[in-house]
Amino acid sequence: MEITVLGSGTSQGVPVIGCSCPVCTSAGSRDKRMRSSLSIKGAAGEQAVIDTGPEFRLQALRAGIRDLDAVFLTHAHADHIHGLDDIRPLNREKPIPVYGNRKTIAEFRERFAYIFKPTQKGGGKPQIDVIAVKGPVRLGNLVFTPIPVKHGDLDILGWKFEETGAQTAAHGGQAALYVTDCTGIPQGSYDLIAEPGPPALAIIGGLRVRPHETHFSFEQALSAGLRTGARRVYLTHICHDHTHRQIKDYCGEFMRKNGLAGITMGPAWDGLRVSL
Ligand SMILES: [Zn+2]
Ligand SMILES: [Zn+2]
Ligand SMILES: [Zn+2]
Repeated sequence: MEITVLGSGTSQGVPVIGCSCPVCTSAGSRDKRMRSSLSIKGAAGEQAVIDTGPEFRLQALRAGIRDLDAVFLTHAHADHIHGLDDIRPLNREKPIPVYGNRKTIAEFRERFAYIFKPTQKGGGKPQIDVIAVKGPVRLGNLVFTPIPVKHGDLDILGWKFEETGAQTAAHGGQAALYVTDCTGIPQGSYDLIAEPGPPALAIIGGLRVRPHETHFSFEQALSAGLRTGARRVYLTHICHDHTHRQIKDYCGEFMRKNGLAGITMGPAWDGLRVSL
């Protein structure tokens, strides 16, 4: 499967409107962070995204997304769902399933009430099936497992996903983990992540160096990534406190401090692609 980071920024995006800090005014393309979202494309053509933030249209155009078989939601905060209306051109003959936990789906229904009401003739709106998940979801050869995590007081989801079947047996069926807004991963969820083996890749939300009430700091996110057993850990949902270069150095220092070898750790960036 091919994994593309569609956006790696926190809720305001980077640059932040009206901000003239060195990161927001940086010319570096990796210092521009759209709202966090992930694309997953299976070898058999299955196409999913995790979250549809406000820049979904721009992200889909940039990544060349031409189909959409499913949307997986982490939670219903604006920066994760407010681009959902833009899936309309990807609606084909049947509704696109949108998966989330029970609370996210309930909030989603309120926020997008118009989708569930009749429209006048000619009025376009997304054709979707909203589904509260209880366990793993299969999409062709891809399997998505909901991973409960804490986002401050909120109970939201991360997603572990992997490709099954003949194409991937040669690769050992490597899994990936995606957790965006998080302040804690319960032990039961670490157990779920480790089953049947640790993910090869973990993309975890780390807002900045300083602590925050509802997000992991870089150090907390890297530590959580390490605990999953992943050999590759990327930070996402990043704010405008640091340039890509500075975060790369920070991760290098974290690895040195902890004597880590054979592990890659660094900031994700918009457009990062990983094949598993
Ligand atoms: Zn967020
Ligand atoms: Zn700024
Ligand atoms: Zn959030």
